[in-house]
Amino acid sequence: MTYWKKEKDFITSVGELKQYISLAPKEEVQLRKVVLRHPMCISKFYLSLIDFTDTDDPLKKMVVPSPRELDISGSYDTSGELHNTKLSGLQHKYSKTALVLSTNRCATYCRFCFRKRLVGLDSTEIISNFNQAVKYIKAHPEINNVLISGGDPLMLTTRVLTRFLELLSPIPHLDFIRFGTKVPVYYPKRILKDDELISLLSSYTRNRKQIYFVTHIDHPREITDELKKVVNLLLGAGVVINNQTVFLRGVNDNPDVLAELMRNLVSIGINPYYLFQCRPVKRVKKNFQIPLSIGYPIVEKAKAQLDGHSKRFRFIMSHKKGKIEILGIKGDEMIFKFHQAKDERNAGRIFFRKLNPVATWLDDLDNPKNNIGSIHDKRR
Ligand code: SF4
Repeated sequence: MTYWKKEKDFITSVGELKQYISLAPKEEVQLRKVVLRHPMCISKFYLSLIDFTDTDDPLKKMVVPSPRELDISGSYDTSGELHNTKLSGLQHKYSKTALVLSTNRCATYCRFCFRKRLVGLDSTEIISNFNQAVKYIKAHPEINNVLISGGDPLMLTTRVLTRFLELLSPIPHLDFIRFGTKVPVYYPKRILKDDELISLLSSYTRNRKQIYFVTHIDHPREITDELKKVVNLLLGAGVVINNQTVFLRGVNDNPDVLAELMRNLVSIGINPYYLFQCRPVKRVKKNFQIPLSIGYPIVEKAKAQLDGHSKRFRFIMSHKKGKIEILGIKGDEMIFKFHQAKDERNAGRIFFRKLNPVATWLDDLDNPKNNIGSIHDKRR
C-alpha cells in the first residue's frame, strides 16, 4: 500500500501558487500558458524551503514556472535519446549501461528538466513491458549496469521497485543497479516513511546486487535535516550515493555556492559525481544556460576552494556524441575530452574548439584548424 503519497502534499495549479507569490495579471496569463504545456507540481515540503520574499530565490527559480519558458529555442531531445531507444522505455547509448525510463512522474517538476518533453505528460517513451527490457539486457552481456530513471523511479510503489530488482539482480553480467532520483530532496517522506523500501534496498545490496542512488542536488539549501535522515537510512542499507548537479544560471553559478554544495555533500556521505552543463532544451535554454566561457572559470574557482575528495566531480556536457568533459581554456581555445563516447572510436579523445563568449553548447563552437582529427559519428 502506498501510504506515503498524498495529493495534499503537492500543489499543481497556478491558483494554488498564488497563495505563495503575487502575480501581475499578465504574468498569471503567461504562467497558465506555460503550465498548460509543461505541468507544474511542487511538493509543499520544497515550498517550505523557498524564501518567497526574495525575488531571486534560487530554489524558487528551479521549480516555479517562469514566463521565460515561453521561449522555444532549443530542442526537446538534446542528447539523441530517440536514436538510443532500443525498445519503448529502454535506451542503450554506452555499451556498458542500459537506461530504463520507468515513469513520467516526479515529486516536483524541475523547470530545467532535460526530459521536459515527457515529465508529467502522457508519453510512449516510458517502459510498458519490463520483461522485454530484461530480455534485452540478458541478451547483451556487455551491459554491466542498469540506470533506472524517468521521471523519478522513487515515485513508483515499493512493490514495483521490488519487481525491478527481482528481475534484474539474477542477471550475472550486471555488477550494479542505479536509481536516479530527486525524491530525497523534494519528498523525503516517501523514503522516511517506508521501512519496507529500506529493508528491500538493504537485502539486495548486501546479498544480491550493489545498489547505487544517483541523487540530484543542485543547491546547498537543498541539504536539509530531512535529506540527511534519508542519506543515513540509505547508507545504513549499504546503498552508495553519488550526486549529479545541473549548472544553472541564477541558482548555483557562483564559485562560493558551488563549493559549499560540494563540501556539504561530502560532509553527509554523498559523493559529488557530475556537474552537468545545462542542456539547450526548449523552454530551458534561455532561462538557465550559462555560456561555457563564463561557466568554466566559475567551476575552477569553486574547485580552488575544495579538497581533493570534494572536487572529484567532472564538469560534463551530455551530448549526442557522448559525455564530454570540459577540461579547460588555453588562449582562445577550449579543451574537451570524451569521458563516455557513443562511438567507441572517440573514447578518451581530446579535442579543441575556438572560444566563443556566448556559446553554451558544443555545437555552437567552431573547430579550429589545428584540431586533432575529427570526431567519429556513429548514427545508431
Ligand atoms: S526530478 Fe529529474 S526527471 Fe524529474 S523533473 Fe527534475 S530533472 Fe526532470
